[in-house]
Amino acid sequence: MTKYEHIFFDLDHTLWDFHSNSVETIEELFIVFDLAAKSKVSSSQYFVDRFVYHNDRLWDLYRRNRMNKSRLRKARFEAALRDIGLEDKKLAKQMGLAYLERCPRKTKLNGDALEVVAALHKHYTLHILSNGFHETQLIKLSCSGLADYFDHVITSEKANSRKPNARMFEYAERVTGASKEVSLMIGDNVEIDIKGAHAFGWDVIHYNEEGVEHTFPSIRKLKELPDLLLA
Ligand SMILES: [Mg+2]
Repeated sequence: MTKYEHIFFDLDHTLWDFHSNSVETIEELFIVFDLAAKSKVSSSQYFVDRFVYHNDRLWDLYRRNRMNKSRLRKARFEAALRDIGLEDKKLAKQMGLAYLERCPRKTKLNGDALEVVAALHKHYTLHILSNGFHETQLIKLSCSGLADYFDHVITSEKANSRKPNARMFEYAERVTGASKEVSLMIGDNVEIDIKGAHAFGWDVIHYNEEGVEHTFPSIRKLKELPDLLLA
């Protein structure tokens, strides 16, 4: 066993398969809002691609405090609709609400997430440390069956800060009673999860699916975690 007592997991793209769940939702919305008839685009593929592009771009602005939550939620659909020839703010707003309603209820997790978390939960206190929206993350956790394994769900909305800022990690320690020596951060984003936690003094494991080269400890698959942490 390791020295750790508290393990902090990032949620989106680490445990919860954000990309698949988001794409599935957009494909549904393409049909529900009859975009094939309203636009000149007959399949959902192009619309999905444009949404993913704009969502990533706008999330980046949100992370850098250049955009607020409600603007982000509308703007990603306004921009994706514009790319299929629909200039329709009302439709964008309706789709934005429908997306928020449906997407967090999707249940696709990254490979073996549930089994891995269940195994680690027997020996460690687990928490979520996420830059996502609080109420949305709670829905994702409960619908996907992850919720019971986590003691605290810490989001930037609650912490009033965001990874990689030190204040986010300070808040996490205060809420959970964890200290640096016994804390471990696991996440998919080197800049946000890994460098942030490491600079704050926590140990880290990068969920490095693509095998990006760097000097931080990393895994390619979640199922490598039990060997590392339960041996
Ligand atoms: Mg992530």
